[in-house]
Amino acid sequence: MVQTSLQPVYPTTVQNLKIFQIDKFNDDPSLIHAIFTRNGGVSQGNFKSLNLSTSVGDNPDAVNENMAIACRAVGVLLEKTVSCRLVHGADIATVTRHNQRQMMGRFDGLITAEPDIYLFMRFADCTPLLFFDPVRRAVGLTHAGWRGTMQNAAGATVKAMVNRLGCRAKNITAVIGPAIGPCCYEVGPEVISAAQHVFTGASTLFTANGRPGHARFDMWQANRRQLADAGVQDIISAEICTACHTDYFFSHRAERGKTGRFGVILGMQ
Ligand SMILES: [Zn+2]
Repeated sequence: MVQTSLQPVYPTTVQNLKIFQIDKFNDDPSLIHAIFTRNGGVSQGNFKSLNLSTSVGDNPDAVNENMAIACRAVGVLLEKTVSCRLVHGADIATVTRHNQRQMMGRFDGLITAEPDIYLFMRFADCTPLLFFDPVRRAVGLTHAGWRGTMQNAAGATVKAMVNRLGCRAKNITAVIGPAIGPCCYEVGPEVISAAQHVFTGASTLFTANGRPGHARFDMWQANRRQLADAGVQDIISAEICTACHTDYFFSHRAERGKTGRFGVILGMQ
């Protein structure tokens, strides 16, 4: 992958660990963030090597060691990370120092306006969405696979940041992280039909691929539209396909379900 630091989402190295960072987020020294790659961990086989999920069949000791490696690289204590059980919905949890737990429950989005809370999620093709409002000083992290996208998880996160935290949509920067791209994401009638109910002009989100009843879905574009509809003006899309880049990322589709999960972390010091 040819990328330079001039690109909005670019590879870099911290503590010998290859990660991706968002150029714009580095403007704010209090913001801690990383899109981890699959490299630099201790897991073996299909999970090689920085698998951060214990729910995919990997050795839990290896995953724990990987979590420690990831947290150390960005200077965050594991106890300060906050995660949730991803359920392909659009429910968003507001995290505070009072309700903060490492596992918040069944949600697909986490938001906070408090420092020293580090939102953490795991991905392998589904879309990571990162949010930052530098004016209100609030962050959000959301998981949107096709089901979450059809439920407008992106818009639900913006709405939650506005209604619960007092953000203004126009102040929010939203980032569409590495996810399976329109080059690789073949879907069937279930997804095409769901999109027709949700998106006006849904056909522009699909490219015919010659297979009857199937098409390639542009999940990046679908999320971009929802963010714009929610009033976000600053939208950064990584345009990095996880299925094309299994050297960097785990891909559920490209690896036929036998794979790990890479992590994304975001919080304010
Ligand atoms: Zn691809």
